Amino acid sequence: MKYTFFTPGPSQLFKTVPYYIKTAVTENILSISHRSDTFKEIFKTATNNLRMLLSIPDDYYVVFVSSGTEAMERVIENTVEKRCFHFFNGSFGQRWYEIAVELGKAPKKCEMKFGEEFPLHVSIPKTNELICFTQNETSNGSAVDLEYIYNIAKDNSQALIAVDIVSSAPYVDIDYTKLDCVFFSVQKLFGLPAGLGVIILSPKALEKAKLLQRKKINIGTYHSFPVLVEYALKNQTPETPNVMGIYLLGKILGDFLKIGITKIRQETKEKASLLYRFFDNTQEYTPFISKANRSQTVVTLNVGTGKKILTKLKAKGFILGNGYGPLKEHQIRITNFPSTSKEDIEKLLANF
Ligand SMILES: *Cc1c(COP(=O)(O)O)cnc(C)c1O
Repeated sequence: MKYTFFTPGPSQLFKTVPYYIKTAVTENILSISHRSDTFKEIFKTATNNLRMLLSIPDDYYVVFVSSGTEAMERVIENTVEKRCFHFFNGSFGQRWYEIAVELGKAPKKCEMKFGEEFPLHVSIPKTNELICFTQNETSNGSAVDLEYIYNIAKDNSQALIAVDIVSSAPYVDIDYTKLDCVFFSVQKLFGLPAGLGVIILSPKALEKAKLLQRKKINIGTYHSFPVLVEYALKNQTPETPNVMGIYLLGKILGDFLKIGITKIRQETKEKASLLYRFFDNTQEYTPFISKANRSQTVVTLNVGTGKKILTKLKAKGFILGNGYGPLKEHQIRITNFPSTSKEDIEKLLANF
């Protein structure tokens, strides 16, 4: 049966991905050396296309890791000697905080109840080295306003700022000059197979990693920022990477550039209002997040009457996301990613 996936990752493949998987095979991409000129071209296409699509400043670095979770760990390892500060109101933000604990750092936090907005004033110690935000909390469909993040950044200019945009890139329109470590993985809005993470790094973030290294603090080995950047400058990766993932990312970014980022963002907004308008007017399924901090890419619904709806929709060819975290038994999630069209969403809603 042909299914349309509205799941929060892996998700519906972008429509051209099956074709590019075939060209990867016919062009021998899966067997070439990762030190060859062909690979360097693939690397350059992916990173250049990403820079263009997201307007990443020229002096920022783009490096590849294996996942969003790996990016969380690398960011803490490479920028924090002791003190980081985490804003979170859901499972992914909490995971990031726990990674800092597991790495032996001394993180502090502004922890809100599941899905709740952060307060206007938060006191962050001035000795703090890094501030972490999960911009789009996939576990509950809440989003942090960018102006909120930029203001915290301005008030804490001694700290580096790290932002998880795993389930909002490339929809979220970021001013990278205000941030230091921004990361995502490709199996969400990019509609690609899982197994590749991308970190966008400021020169300051790299400097901090080098400083920690000089102080003999463990910043990891083959995927430390200095090593990742050293190889990225040669259009390479330290290890044998997910060559197919990088190849597919370059191709999909090419498609996104042709569609245009403005159009992708506009369509995402339109599809989100279609979804929220529908569920704001039903009794059985109500949006979990209040209007002020709703995600445009992950819609979380309270399902009072149980989750039979998931089975019913599956029989009609629609796969939705389960709940996640403390309220998972009472919620479902629907993703609004570029790989599902307005027509797909209209069909889904007609079957609810
Ligand atoms: C999916 C997700 C992650 C984890 O990414 P992986 O690539 O699965 O490791 C982290 N943060 C957010 C917000 C996510 O949605």
